[in-house]
Amino acid sequence: MQLRYNYRAYPDATQRRALASAFGCARVVWNDCLRDRKGAHAVGLPYVKSADLSRLRITHAKRTEERAWLADVSAVVLQQSLRDLDTAYQNFFDSLKGKRHGRKVGPPRYKSKKDTRQSIRLTTNAFSLQGDGTLYVAKVGNLKVKWSRRLPAAPTSLTVTKDSSGRYFLSFVVDTEPDIFPELDTDTGIDLGLSAFAVLSDGTKISAPRFLRRAEKKLKRLQRELSRKAKGSKNRAKARIKVARQHAQVADRRRDFHHKASTQIIRDSQAVYVEDLAVSGLGRTRLAKSVHDAGWSAFVGMLEYKAVRYGRTFAKVDRAFPSSQVCSACGFRDGPKPLHIREWTCAECGTVHDRDHNAARNVLFEGRRIVAAGRAETLNACGAPVRRARVPAQRGEAGSPRKGQQTQTGIPGF
Ligand SMILES: [Zn+2]
Repeated sequence: MQLRYNYRAYPDATQRRALASAFGCARVVWNDCLRDRKGAHAVGLPYVKSADLSRLRITHAKRTEERAWLADVSAVVLQQSLRDLDTAYQNFFDSLKGKRHGRKVGPPRYKSKKDTRQSIRLTTNAFSLQGDGTLYVAKVGNLKVKWSRRLPAAPTSLTVTKDSSGRYFLSFVVDTEPDIFPELDTDTGIDLGLSAFAVLSDGTKISAPRFLRRAEKKLKRLQRELSRKAKGSKNRAKARIKVARQHAQVADRRRDFHHKASTQIIRDSQAVYVEDLAVSGLGRTRLAKSVHDAGWSAFVGMLEYKAVRYGRTFAKVDRAFPSSQVCSACGFRDGPKPLHIREWTCAECGTVHDRDHNAARNVLFEGRRIVAAGRAETLNACGAPVRRARVPAQRGEAGSPRKGQQTQTGIPGF
């Protein structure tokens, strides 16, 4: 399987300029090629082939006065940008044809200089690890890197990104063998909630750590301050950077928390079941803010790839399954419960239920049933895009099943 290893890089002023122009060139190639394809589509012409775009928008373009500066950056960066566009189109087409489960993918969009995340992708012929601990990147130079942990093997590709708070990251893709944990006879159902971050079927409650909530509070304050600054003023620009930094910190801390919680759950249980939440649906409701803050989909994505990596079973329970309405003791369906009802008594058997704990137990039973019935195969492959590795890892590893390999490998006996 493929794992991502992320490190922080510290380019000097010259290297920062070289990277800025690489980001810019990659963006221009992407936008030029996208425009050609959109244009062809608008007048009913066939999809423009990559080979044609590569010739016209990269090789020929470099010889024109208008795009001569494309020659200043590594050709690999430009080619990869076109490849990424191809992938974006492929995902869109697969989504249209229903080949891709889960959330609908829209057509590729134009990139902007103002995008919060700028990136370039490189293959092995455009970067190399140096003996002195620096990383050579073609046409950029030797970057200073903070190697927070060892790379387990030679990387196959590298993405260099710059985030909105001006930090640079290197993300290496490394091919590794799964690292199967010793087998256990425990399994866990998880209810993702708003009062606690997650409740497990054994009654364990996982709440967001206090430092994360504090960081979120500070972010809100900084955002308020930003909104009070006059548009276009220097103070506004300063406030914006402060907000971006705080955003980055909240995101990092939340990711760390998700990594710790997901690793713990995967380590402790042989099978993990979770409700397949319609997060995109909830995102439009009044609960939107807290839903996005909780970052459920990133967390579920981590559970999924860690299950593959460590040889655990993972299944998503259908979102139509009424986990909060059914009594987990006797199976009686007690009817819908508004969100504010945290505790209820079963009208049939009289068991007093904590809403979330009961839901987690129901997810556990439903998950077991699905896996026993062999239906996990389809459910499991659901919504697992191949390059799920977008989940960036700070300390833990983010990984993704390799292209074509589906997550059901996590289910022994399938
Ligand atoms: Zn009951």
